[in-house]
Amino acid sequence: MSCAAKQGSVALTVTIVRLSRRLRLGVGALIIAALAMGLAAPSAKAAPFETCVKGLRTSAIKAGVSPDIVEAAFRDMTFDERVLRFQRSQPEYRLAIWDYMAFLVDEARIADGRKMLEIEAKSLAAIEKAYGVDKYVLVALWGVESDYGRLEGDFHLPRALASLACEGKRAALFKAELFHALKIVAAGDVKLQDFTGPWAGAFGHTQFMPSTYRRLAVDFDRDGRKDTINSIPDALASAANYLKRSGWRPGQAWGFEVKVPASYKGPTGRTRKAAISAWAKRGIRRADGAALPKAGSYGLIRPAGRGGPAFLVSRNFDALYSYNAAESYALAIAHLSDRLRGKGAFRTAWPTDDPGLSRAERKRLQELLIARGLYKGEADGRMGPLTAAAIREAEKQAGMKPTGRPGARILRVLAEN
Ligand code: CA
Repeated sequence: MSCAAKQGSVALTVTIVRLSRRLRLGVGALIIAALAMGLAAPSAKAAPFETCVKGLRTSAIKAGVSPDIVEAAFRDMTFDERVLRFQRSQPEYRLAIWDYMAFLVDEARIADGRKMLEIEAKSLAAIEKAYGVDKYVLVALWGVESDYGRLEGDFHLPRALASLACEGKRAALFKAELFHALKIVAAGDVKLQDFTGPWAGAFGHTQFMPSTYRRLAVDFDRDGRKDTINSIPDALASAANYLKRSGWRPGQAWGFEVKVPASYKGPTGRTRKAAISAWAKRGIRRADGAALPKAGSYGLIRPAGRGGPAFLVSRNFDALYSYNAAESYALAIAHLSDRLRGKGAFRTAWPTDDPGLSRAERKRLQELLIARGLYKGEADGRMGPLTAAAIREAEKQAGMKPTGRPGARILRVLAEN
């Protein structure tokens, strides 16, 4: 088992969940991620794989991929058993919204995003002008999708896709994505050897699947290639194009945090939109005390139920939702965009006495576990099965219920003792 597979990570799992959602693989819940992923044992599939690859070669050429690209892609093609293990792995428990948000919208991601706003200011201004999508939202999406390009991954996409097309679930879908990937190579946009990603399929700064890429990627820096792996302007403009096609309305906010009266019994849900005047009549107010907007259609979401923060969300929130089909995901981008704009944290706390941890706090937790001899791995902030086991042991020693979850309470207990 590779080191990456042993460790897993919330980042990787968020990626897997996202892919699963994009591909409609049936990961049901709104907020899912693994602290620890149970990875199934590898299986040797060499002989059937070779036969399958022969079939793929023929089908790829029939599907219009040029024979020289097919030859280059399938020469020395071997089975990548890691992708099947990742596909089979199931999250052990659902990640609470406050864990998800603490991980995705932490101080480091806000600080990095502000730097990126400066570094990419010129491109962002041009992209904003061309597509009408707010630069803060684009940088937030970039930060959540790939940690501003840091989440590179070492899966060779054609190999990973061929492995899934031969052995995985949803083989037909991955076969189609494989052919799209090869057509991207044939178009000269991405070099075969550069075609790597964090898992099977999505790639580049803004993590498009090959089919999405072929539909929506753009050559914004006009060097003749649509390159969302190496060109930040191409990647950000491609994301802007995606949002524009998903109904993004220039100049409109994604929404805002609200206060809901305790007695509220009206409609809830992103898609149950109503005029702002209707929400005002129902007693909904902005959490920051500012006046409600004069017009617009909004839906009320309460990601943690009645006790937690509530939001009125616009059509632009739906555009963010369409990128990944998860409200928690859309909220992470929405909130990160507001933080990049200089706005503060949510006014209402999440309904928990054991809040989630930032990436820096996760590392600190691992350092404390190492110091106690409970964890033998690296303090890398990745919450894999080894870290989860160490947390459970620390919880037991402290007389707490063993959960394996990295939360503020166990961090405090370890830091103080
Ligand atoms: Ca380009």
